[in-house]
Amino acid sequence: MILVKPKKKLGQHFLKDENIAKKIVSQLYFDDYSLVLEIGPGMGVLTKFIPKNKKIYLIEIDKDSIEFLKIHFKNLIKNIIHDDFLKFNLKKFINQNQIGIIGNFPYNISSQILFKVINHRNNIPFLCGMFQKEVAERICHNKGSKKYGIISVIAQAFYETEFLFEVSPKVFSPPPKVKSAVIKLSRRKNFKLKCNEDLFFKVVKLSFQQRRKKIKNSLKNLHLDINLIEDTIFDLRPENLNYKDFIELTQKIESKNVRI
Ligand code: SAH
Repeated sequence: MILVKPKKKLGQHFLKDENIAKKIVSQLYFDDYSLVLEIGPGMGVLTKFIPKNKKIYLIEIDKDSIEFLKIHFKNLIKNIIHDDFLKFNLKKFINQNQIGIIGNFPYNISSQILFKVINHRNNIPFLCGMFQKEVAERICHNKGSKKYGIISVIAQAFYETEFLFEVSPKVFSPPPKVKSAVIKLSRRKNFKLKCNEDLFFKVVKLSFQQRRKKIKNSLKNLHLDINLIEDTIFDLRPENLNYKDFIELTQKIESKNVRI
């Protein structure tokens, strides 16, 4: 069997341990959507364990991996997409379905993958996959943690995030320089925020741009009402607010007729 030669620039670290692959894919058994999109299947170590009752699509940027998949997954040949996930028209692909996302994601673009998923949250109830451990922690940690930041608040506002387990570099070929971890994101029932969502994104991003400063200083450019910032929430630092607090903060800002 001719194997794909790993390319560093595509973040290719192929998982060798099939038990870990099974553990990741087993997360798919518990949900009720019928379409699954796997990002970066490589040589299909996860693909082969995806339950047969799901309709599987694969998106892979690498030509060599695409050739490998076409030979070894003949039954999926019509569902193999040769494209860059970040440029791919996901909205058109989703076409009003609800889909689950799975993958051992390329670490160099894993945050961008997650933000793209979040932008399509109306149709993506579930994601499970492998990230660089550091990024996995940032997604799952809560207020008070040093790792807590923009990606934590934004992911947690829409999804329940769960750190499942850590994975050693040894189980990959070639081994990455960093540790890895598998996490799971399940969309919240009430994932439509009770505030202006665009403003929420803006408030979170501006607040964390200066994470040591009080919120009222970081949000100066929003020209907040002088009475509004009397509220003690504006004296806090962003790392002390959970996603619900950020929603409340956004509601307060919205309630005053400010330029936003
Ligand atoms: N799932 C496989 C491969 C993981 S390595 C395994 O576990 O063994 C990450 C994979 O993502 C590689 O196959 C790489 O070619 C692919 N990839 C990298 N950038 C991508 C992109 N922008 N869009 C789609 N796939 C990408």
